[in-house]
Amino acid sequence: MTFETLGLDPALLRAVADLGWPKPTPIQIDAIPPAREGRDVLACAMTGSGKTAAFLLPLLHRLNDAPTRGTRALVLTPTRELAAQVHADLQELAKHTSLKGAAVFGGVGMGPQEAAFRRQTDVIIATPGRLLDHLGQPGRYVDFRGLEVLVLDEADRMLDMGFLPDIKRVLSHLPAKRQTLFFSATLPKPIVDLSHAMLREPARINVERVSKPAVGIEQALYPVPEALKADLFIALLKSNTIGNVICFTRTKHRSNRLAEVLTRAGIPNARIHGNRSQAQRTEALAHFKSGKVRVLVATDIVARGIDVEALEHVVNFDVPHVPEDYIHRVGRTARAEATGEAFTLVSPEEEQDLRAIEKAIARKLPRRTVSGFDYAHRPAERLEVPLAERIAAIRARKAEDRARAKAKAARREEHAQREAARPAASRKGPGRGRRGR
Ligand code: AMP
Repeated sequence: MTFETLGLDPALLRAVADLGWPKPTPIQIDAIPPAREGRDVLACAMTGSGKTAAFLLPLLHRLNDAPTRGTRALVLTPTRELAAQVHADLQELAKHTSLKGAAVFGGVGMGPQEAAFRRQTDVIIATPGRLLDHLGQPGRYVDFRGLEVLVLDEADRMLDMGFLPDIKRVLSHLPAKRQTLFFSATLPKPIVDLSHAMLREPARINVERVSKPAVGIEQALYPVPEALKADLFIALLKSNTIGNVICFTRTKHRSNRLAEVLTRAGIPNARIHGNRSQAQRTEALAHFKSGKVRVLVATDIVARGIDVEALEHVVNFDVPHVPEDYIHRVGRTARAEATGEAFTLVSPEEEQDLRAIEKAIARKLPRRTVSGFDYAHRPAERLEVPLAERIAAIRARKAEDRARAKAKAARREEHAQREAARPAASRKGPGRGRRGR
C-alpha cells in the first residue's frame, strides 16, 4: 500500500514525499479512504500511530479539491502543545497548497488569533476553552457558517480534562451538516456516548481492538522504595541505561523537586507542567528537542501531544493511577515504526495500581534491578516536602516580603518628609543635573 493508492491530491503526495514517509501507517490506510469519501470516522488511535496525518490528509484533500473562502475545518485538541503540534504538521502537509491553518490556544495573546479568524483561515486548530473565549467576544468575528469538517483529537483526554461541557457549547456554534472525524486513544463509556451523539454511520477503525501500547516498545519495571526513586533514576541515567528521556511524575511539586535533585546531580533538565507559562513550556521543549537538556520532567496532562522525534525513553517516575495513562505515555516512545523503551519505577505502595495496568495490557511486565545500586541506603534528601512545611515556608517568605515592603514604604515616607522640610531652592527637580549632558 502506498500514499498514491489512497488517491490523495498530488500536492499532498509531494508533501508526504518531502517528509520522507515511505508508506502510510495502518491507521492512515484505514482512516484516509472513508474520510476522503466524506464519511464520518470513529478511530481508536494513539500518539505515535500517525493519527494526525490520518485526519489531516483527507481533510486537506477535501479542502483543496474545491477551494472556497472561509473557515472550513476545525480541529479540537485537549492541550496547547497538541494544538501547536497539529498546526506544525498541517503546515508541512499543506505546503504545496494555498491552504492555511492557525492554532488557537490560551496563554498567549488573543489579537493574532482574532486576526486569523477575521482572515477566515481555512483550518482552525483550537483548545475548547480559548475557542469559547473567542466565540464570546463582542466583535462576533468567528464565522463557522461555512464549516465542513470537525475533528476531535484525543477525545478521551478532552473528557478527562473536563472539557465535555465546553465541547457541547462549541458544537452548538457549528453547522449540523458537516463531516466529523473522531479520534480517541481509548473508548470508555462517556466517549462512546459522545461519539453516538456526534457521528452519523461512522467508519469504525480499531474500535473493537483493546488499545495497547504500540509494538516495538520494550517495557520494564524497576521496583524501588519510594524514598530511593530519585537516586535510582539518577543511577539509571549515570550508567547510561537510559539516554534522553521524558520523565513523568505524579504532581507538579514532585516534578519541581525532581528537577532540583537532577540539577544538583549535574544532569541538565527542563520542566513542563501546568504552572509553567507558555513561554517556559516552549523553551523547555525546544531545549529537550535540541539535546541541550537530557531529561524533560513532565506531569501528564500538559505533556500530551508533545512530539519528539525518535524519543528513546519514557520513564514513569510514578505509576499512573489509570491504565489508560500508562498506555498513552508508553505510546509516546513509539514514533511510527520506531522502537523505544519505557521504564516504570514502582514503590511497594504502587503495586496495586500496577496490577490494574498489567491487567489492561494483558501481560506481566519484566522486573529489573540496577546492579551495584544499594537498595537499603538512606537517601541524602527527601523528594517531597510535606504540605504543612511547604505552606509554612510560603508564609515565612510572604511575611519577609511584607516586612521588606513596609520598611521600604517607611524609608520613602521619611525621604518625602525630609524633602518637604528643605527650602524650595535646594530641592532637586526631576531630571536636574543630567540636562545638557
Ligand atoms: P502522530 O501519531 O500523529 O503523533 O505521529 C507520530 C509521528 O509519526 C510523527 O512524528 C509523524 O511525523 C510521523 N509519521 C506520520 N505518518 C508517518 C508515515 N506514514 N511514515 C513515517 N512517519 C510518519
